[in-house]
Amino acid sequence: MSELRVRFAPSPTGYLHIGGARTALFNYLLAKKETGKFILRIEDTDVARSTQESVDAILDAMTWLGFSCDEGPVYQSERFDLYRQKVQQLLDEGKAYRCYCTAEELDAKREKAKEEGRKPKYDGTCRNRNDQPDAPFVVRFKLPADREETTFVDRIKGSISFRHEELDDLIIQRTDGTPTYNFVVVVDDAEMGISLVIRGDDHINNTPRQILLYEALGYSVPEFAHVPMILGSDKKRLSKRHGATSVMAYQEMGYLPEALVNYLVRLGWSSGDEEIFSMADLIEKFSLENVGRSAGVFNPEKLLWLNSHYIKTGDPQRLADLLKPFLQQKGIVVENGPDLVAVVKSLQERSATMIEMANGAAFYFVDQVEYDEKAKNKFLQSEQKDMFEVILKKLGTCALFTEEQLESSFAEIMQVTELKFGKVAQPLRVALTGGTASPSIYDVLQVLGKKVSLKRIEQAIESLDD
Ligand code: GLU
Repeated sequence: MSELRVRFAPSPTGYLHIGGARTALFNYLLAKKETGKFILRIEDTDVARSTQESVDAILDAMTWLGFSCDEGPVYQSERFDLYRQKVQQLLDEGKAYRCYCTAEELDAKREKAKEEGRKPKYDGTCRNRNDQPDAPFVVRFKLPADREETTFVDRIKGSISFRHEELDDLIIQRTDGTPTYNFVVVVDDAEMGISLVIRGDDHINNTPRQILLYEALGYSVPEFAHVPMILGSDKKRLSKRHGATSVMAYQEMGYLPEALVNYLVRLGWSSGDEEIFSMADLIEKFSLENVGRSAGVFNPEKLLWLNSHYIKTGDPQRLADLLKPFLQQKGIVVENGPDLVAVVKSLQERSATMIEMANGAAFYFVDQVEYDEKAKNKFLQSEQKDMFEVILKKLGTCALFTEEQLESSFAEIMQVTELKFGKVAQPLRVALTGGTASPSIYDVLQVLGKKVSLKRIEQAIESLDD
């Protein structure tokens, strides 16, 4: 069997959105699984709408998600000569023709068709004309008359037929000489040796036209797999109304790429009841046979759940590197604080996003703890002074803040004060962190270290008489 060659072909007219990322992922996974090639092609023939900023945004998002390509990026804007040559080939072979109908004429015909209840489509006025007036023209592809329908077997949706009476003579080159999407996509997929086109099912109506173009240009037709689209919870097409749709917005909101990848793949593909998949699992298990035919519904809670799973189980050193910019964004000078890896370890269990982790970590880095008012009113009262003095003394004599030594210091504190663990730990938590929710008290003490912990307890004692 020949090598599998697939491609992802975004138009750089905006950021990489969730739907595009899933299409890219399916292509990437299949290429890896079948040791084929994953090719990136930037479809920037629409010069007016394509921007370098969008190209960069798409490339950044691909890198962040880990979808490295084996070839490319190939830019369509650098291939105009090839397209022109191919348009000429069809003209020379009589398979395409120049159409001089003006926009006004076409509008009028369209209106008339509508009035008469006919489907508006080009009536072929210029099909058989032989003159070449000195006037602007588009180039149209002559719909072949040798059969009445075009059928293809989609790898996801099964057999699909389109009757030719639904189609008309497609414009393949505009009046300004630029080629149109349906034409360049065919030339490129063929010239780049793409054997399977995996893309969103919003392109399914284009496929019969494209198949006819492959045939007319003398190319072999690739296989197709059209991926169902992604819907919001109201079953409408996923849009900004449903939350962020840009891949990089999820990075900014503190999501890990592996969580998004895991989430995206499950939006349309399954492997039994399994929910958690590493990239390596996916490369092993992914197949188009298990891609569903119906649309997936975007569920932000599930994505959040996956993110917290990957934070919980993530490598602390890597998470520390990822956490740093989130802390810096909050104006925190990381270098003056405790060991970041220790900070991460204390927060992994309780952070669903890296933003949450950064918020939860902020107290470690302050010079002066700011107390939550409610917490202070409840836990930092003058009657707690004796207890805090005992804590200060006992922790002061605790040589090392190991789990073991802290446990025995606390046992002593509880004995002397005759208080239960919670009655000691909760006020101490407020003293050390400013609030009532934080990592375990031993974790907090260990991460802050002895010097800072004692200083914070002293500050709390001073604040008691306020
Ligand atoms: N450039 C097209 C898009 O962004 C995709 C074309 C294709 O996959 O055939 O929608």
